[in-house]
Amino acid sequence: MFTLKSLPYAAEALAPHISGRTMNLHHGKHHQAYIDNLNKLIEGTAYEKMELEDIIKETHGKEDLVSIFNNAGQVYNHFFFWESLRPAQETINVPADLLTQIDRDFGSFEKMAEQFKAVALSQFGSGWTWLALEEDKLKIIKAPNGEPAFLKGAKPLLALDVWEHSYYLDYENRRAEYVDAVLNHLFNWDFAARNAIS
Ligand code: MN
Repeated sequence: MFTLKSLPYAAEALAPHISGRTMNLHHGKHHQAYIDNLNKLIEGTAYEKMELEDIIKETHGKEDLVSIFNNAGQVYNHFFFWESLRPAQETINVPADLLTQIDRDFGSFEKMAEQFKAVALSQFGSGWTWLALEEDKLKIIKAPNGEPAFLKGAKPLLALDVWEHSYYLDYENRRAEYVDAVLNHLFNWDFAARNAIS
């Protein structure tokens, strides 16, 4: 049985960029629902005793298992997303080694952020945007629905949920403003740096 872990910060800690109301709904209702659905779907099956990542790999691309895949992917992605954020700050603090890598692979932090935003806006409908390492090179990648970045052979550093439920209450249809706010105030670059070397 999978269970919902508490957020690593108060639901209000991301305000004014993401409201406590959004966080409470997103974590307490949406993430909880994916967990409840997954638990129900795998009850009494071989998947019940598997790690989350293995369930995702095993059900990927199998038409009859798409519900398990979708819910397991969303359970995994949301756990990763909560860790990708930290309480709101006015400044962006990227650890030196990660910043060197960003400069090497994108030219500058600003160019990386521009590309991240463009990719996040280009995801048609629901999905995710990731900063990830692919063969030791940093890349921005996107995936539809609940598909995790590791299925593309990439090691995820940061995740951004671009489903409307993650921003609609605070930004209505203005996804670009939400992406800017996360890039400038909420991403946890220490978490990204730890993932890069792990
Ligand atoms: Mn979500």
